[in-house]
Parts: sequence; C-alpha cells; structure tokens
Amino acid sequence: MILAGVGASLPLKSLLASVATPVARPFHKFQLGELELITVTDGFIHMDKVQPNFAPGVAAKQVNELLQKSFRPTDHVDLGMNMLLVKKQDQIILIDTGTGNAFGKNSGWLLNSLADAGIQATDISTIIISHGHPDHIGGVLKEDGSLNFPNAEYYISRIEHDFWMADQQDFSKSAFEDKALLKVFTKATQQVLTTIKPKLHLFEDGLVLHDCIKLEIAPGHTPGHAITHIYSGGNSIVHVADLIHSDVLLFPHPEWGFNGDTDLQLAAATRKKVLARLTTSATPIFAYHLPWPGIGHARKKDNGFEWVAETYAFPA
Ligand SMILES: [Zn+2]
Repeated sequence: MILAGVGASLPLKSLLASVATPVARPFHKFQLGELELITVTDGFIHMDKVQPNFAPGVAAKQVNELLQKSFRPTDHVDLGMNMLLVKKQDQIILIDTGTGNAFGKNSGWLLNSLADAGIQATDISTIIISHGHPDHIGGVLKEDGSLNFPNAEYYISRIEHDFWMADQQDFSKSAFEDKALLKVFTKATQQVLTTIKPKLHLFEDGLVLHDCIKLEIAPGHTPGHAITHIYSGGNSIVHVADLIHSDVLLFPHPEWGFNGDTDLQLAAATRKKVLARLTTSATPIFAYHLPWPGIGHARKKDNGFEWVAETYAFPA
C-alpha cells in the first residue's frame, strides 16, 4: 500500500530508501525440537556505499565484478535486521534488541513487529546481547531512558562488558574511519549497560541457559562478540550475530572484512573458522544482517564459502 503509485521503473534503491514503517510486518515461525522460534524484523540499515563499508582496501573492480555477477547493486547495500525469539514453555528469549532510536526511521521497528507476531514487550523474560553495538543494544531503552523490556534478565559476555565500560577502547585495529562516532556509540552503550546493571548477568564462553542455549565467544567484530547455539531434541541452529554482514561478498571472501569490525584481521579469522565448522556440521544458521529472514546454511565453494538461503513456499 505504501508503494502503490510508485513508478515501476524506479530502481530498488529509491523504493527502499523511502520506505516508511510497514503497516503490518510479516513474521516467520518455525519449530526446533520442542522450541518455537520466531523471526521478526527491526527494519534495515541503508549504506550508501559498498566500499569501504565492505572490503576496505580491496580493488573496487574485484568487488564490483562480484556484486554484478550476483545481480546486486554496486552503489549501496541494505543490511537486514533480523530478530530471533526462542519460546520454551513460559520463557521467551530475545537475541539482541535492534537499533531503538539510534538509526532513524528505517529501523527500530522491533516493538511493533513483536506486537504483529502477538508478543508483548512485557512477555520477554531473557535478553541475550551478542555485543555492544547500537544496532544490537539500542532497543534496550526507550527514548526517555526507561526499559523497553521491564521483565527481562540480560546477558552479555564479561569480555564485551569490560571492553565498553573501560575508560578507553582500543579501536586501532578497526578500519572504521569515523573515530568520533565510535566515541558516541561507546557513551550510548555505557548508558545502556549502566541502566540494566541490576538485571545484567556477565557470562564466560560456554554458558548454558534454559537447557536450550549455549553461548560461544567469537571475537573480532568486537572483543566479546558472542554467537548463540540453540538446540532441542537433537536439532540445532546457531545465531551468528555479526560474524558476517554480506551473503554475496563475505562468504566467498571472508577475508575481505567489514569496517564495523573492531579488529578486522581477528574478525576475518573467526569468520573463516566458524564458517568452516558450520559447513562441516551442516548446522542451520540464523544471521542478523543477511537478507530476510536470514536463515540458511553455509557450504564450501572454491577457496571460500557460499550462503544457501532457506526458501519458503509461502509467507508464514
Ligand atoms: Zn550489527
């Protein structure tokens, strides 16, 4: 309805860049053993350049050729914002909280999306924070500084917590150019972590929660960045958070990197290592920033990998 009347010849870029919050957002439910999993959207993040957001320092020709071969635009990228909920009896576990108000009207849709899926913010009992970036932690607080999810207990890795709460953060191994913006992010993250302190649990690598979740520290994107293994009855899926931000660029070239990575080299090494493992085990993957709904598998291809997205016969 929002797009009605827009000329069919307009490029996709214009449509997405001008989209308002959809009136009714679709959600995707699926079963994992005894667990019910629900994916909702927080919106999207529009990047008006591919490089140097992706593949900083790589020859533009090589990047553009791969984008064109994949039928993708060469002048911008839209990152998905896929939110995952795990329902186990009366527990509702949410992994990350979206951008909140941090990134404008293209994102921060989580609360409305949850309502469309029949879930109220007060229903959420556990929130896992994969890492301290504003597109993951921004939805914790309302604009007035109060809690969006008043009944939740929060979990973040101790390494991640200590990194952000320190007096100084080491961003020297990041390719991100706007160091002043990193300072702004840091202050916002410190405010969130301070506000939720009475309900915040700091975890080490390998923590098990609710008998269906195991947290693994996968460092590089940030020092204490965590991925979440979800399992039930011999089935599993892994929420890889910000291990990878592009299906067509970083699966074939995990070493090309993403300039949001706090340690570009370590993030690339971790990306390769985790993808190799998930390829061997053929474990289903949930990816926060890949195209909706971000569910699929990795498989080996040439010297790298490829993303095989799950497809569905109808929207449900
Ligand atoms: Zn992110």
